[in-house]
Amino acid sequence: MSRKVLCIDCGKRLRKDEIALSQKLIDVDTMEFYCLDCLADYIGCTIDDLRDKIQEFKEQGCVLFL
Ligand SMILES: [Zn+2]
Repeated sequence: MSRKVLCIDCGKRLRKDEIALSQKLIDVDTMEFYCLDCLADYIGCTIDDLRDKIQEFKEQGCVLFL
């Protein structure tokens, strides 16, 4: 059963990658998760940058993205 995690900013239901990326870029213990749109806004980068990051972390074999 998957946890329902919502974006703290816009309330959108989050995908696993978005949750993992929030943990990776904010804090692994964070209780605040963002969708890609809001995370890009929060960090001050583009959504494409975040997609690249997700790809990068997956290639590194980061366990959060499994
Ligand atoms: Zn959001």
